[in-house]
Amino acid sequence: DFDSSKVVASDRKHVWHHITQHKPFEQNDPMVIVEGKGMRVRDARGNEYLDAVSGGVWTVNVGYGRESIADAVRDQLVKMNYFAQSAGNVPAAFFAEKLIEKMPGMSRVYYSNSGSEANEKAFKIVRQIAQKKYGGKKYKILFRERDYHGTTITALSATGQFERKNQYGPFTPGFVEFPHCCEYRSQFGDVSDYGVRAALEMEKVILAEGPETVGAVCLEPITAGGGVITPPHGYWEKIQEICRKYDILLHIDEVVCGLGRTGTWFGYQHYGIKPDIVTMAKGVASGYAAISCTVTTEEVFEAFKDDASDRMGYFRDISTFGGCTAGPAAALANMQIIEEENLLENVTQMGEYLLGRLRQLQDRYEVIGDVRGKGLFCGLELVKDRQTREPVDESLPIAIAADCMKQGVIIGRTNRSFEQFNNTLCLSPALIATQADLDEIVEALDNAFARLAPNS
Ligand code: PMP
Repeated sequence: DFDSSKVVASDRKHVWHHITQHKPFEQNDPMVIVEGKGMRVRDARGNEYLDAVSGGVWTVNVGYGRESIADAVRDQLVKMNYFAQSAGNVPAAFFAEKLIEKMPGMSRVYYSNSGSEANEKAFKIVRQIAQKKYGGKKYKILFRERDYHGTTITALSATGQFERKNQYGPFTPGFVEFPHCCEYRSQFGDVSDYGVRAALEMEKVILAEGPETVGAVCLEPITAGGGVITPPHGYWEKIQEICRKYDILLHIDEVVCGLGRTGTWFGYQHYGIKPDIVTMAKGVASGYAAISCTVTTEEVFEAFKDDASDRMGYFRDISTFGGCTAGPAAALANMQIIEEENLLENVTQMGEYLLGRLRQLQDRYEVIGDVRGKGLFCGLELVKDRQTREPVDESLPIAIAADCMKQGVIIGRTNRSFEQFNNTLCLSPALIATQADLDEIVEALDNAFARLAPNS
């Protein structure tokens, strides 16, 4: 065992934590999480928490301490841990088959290790197709304001969150932003056809750039870190129509919504979309192993085929640890849990329950301007005034999250992604959440709002 004060001291001295904390770095007093079971975790000081954000960033979908996943990974690693994915391996083959069964219309799976890397692969495919089919012309990739696509320079180049990215410029050329689709922050006032109008904003950018230069658009099915933005009515139909009109590939980033978070296997499946490329990471193995996938249709895969002479070159690509068997072994066991425990159904039922409870909170606290979400993925946007919708200062969501933490519940906040906004709280408990878990989360929020944001 270990001395917990020593762990905390070593952590403070040497570990460069991810995600900027809201305090100056030196004042940080990081939690070191040492144990987890189900929905709950314990830190090195012995505090226990109900985790309402699935490992901080919507990842541990099937909950902590899953022995079937750990066993599957162990058994696989002692048998065959690694060989480059230029050769095949058993769990990679079986997971690809099971995954494709859940994604009608899709066909090929490329394995890598993180959401950023899966997105980079998708961007590379678009660039390859531009070269192969369009003489290099159709190389631009459009992305949406407020969406996030990853931490590498090119994934950041495709990210619409200024505070996340600006310090890292200059960016990869050929990435172009179009406006967000947050109805609560409508660019057109209160209109009945907001979804269609927001989608047409994308078309305007395509036309301004020249459709012959645009190869793909990349979007989150529900904008996650940028504010839990559920798409407005009619939006996706129009986006799909525009993509088809100009022969533009549709790349859906399912890194957050993928593998059940919203009650379907993938977020896009709520909206009848037929994507050309889908990327996924976090929930693929619920954090038990590092694995991500870039999934394409057979048409995308075949796009390089017409010229046999340099076909080899077009498929030459490697991600070293994309060949590690731990990832797909964990992913198979993770998928089995979702199926055997009927977790998609649980997410649909519990998601409706949670949204309902949050709407009741909204009735009681003026500061909650908007409640939105799908499945076990909900956001509460906080405002100073419901009429003007002026966002609260970020100190309030920070204080609410800290108050919940003191009560033993970890909730999330989204990023400062858009203008001055950093005003959205986020709940994304594991897919196994029960009504009692959700009641405990809502009660903590209720107490925090009563203390910190009572109606005036
Ligand atoms: N896409 C989305 C929508 C994400 O939320 C994230 C991570 N927060 C990523 C991509 C990047 O994934 P990773 O951190 O695994 O590189």
